[in-house]
Amino acid sequence: MNRIQLVRGDITKLEVDAIVNAANSSLTGGSGVDGAIHQAAGPRLLEECLKIRERQDGCPPGEAVITSGGNLKVKFVIHAVGPIWKDGSEDEHNILANAYRNSLVLAQANSVETIAFPNISTGIYGFPKIPAAEIAIREVKDFLTKDDSIQTVTFCCFDEENFDIYNQLLNKAP
Ligand code: ADP
Repeated sequence: MNRIQLVRGDITKLEVDAIVNAANSSLTGGSGVDGAIHQAAGPRLLEECLKIRERQDGCPPGEAVITSGGNLKVKFVIHAVGPIWKDGSEDEHNILANAYRNSLVLAQANSVETIAFPNISTGIYGFPKIPAAEIAIREVKDFLTKDDSIQTVTFCCFDEENFDIYNQLLNKAP
């Protein structure tokens, strides 16, 4: 079976071991997918995020932290912080790659077998969608070649534009 899957829809509805949240550094929730995840998961998620925040003063861009799934049908939510796009000269590409990689490292450390990612940074943070998708796919493929504990990684695209971009890139010959 292909270990990389593509779906279009709302990530809060997926039944996987872990979903990734496109969080912000303060870990206090926000709009977009972050708001949807906190809304669906209930107040426990924010409580857990605030505890992490007390311990380590938030989460810098490129890093990720893990909580329970609250009321969601997942064991974990991995809160990854992507870069805010400026003009591409502020290390945004590497920071985005780190956000994907560090999420996968956390997933592996917590015995996650199935994980779903939203299109980190491509909403309010304004990262151009095509390079963001190329980075996401490259990082996931790289990771999966070195790891055999994660069975499937699902890219969950909410908007049609991202879905079409992923569809094209994933169906291109390697
Ligand atoms: P960021 O601040 O990292 O850009 P956003 O939440 O604004 O985060 O957007 C990231 C991506 O999440 C966008 O592509 C947006 O279409 C998508 N998105 C928004 N709501 C959901 C949802 N419920 N499930 C999956 N993806 C979502």
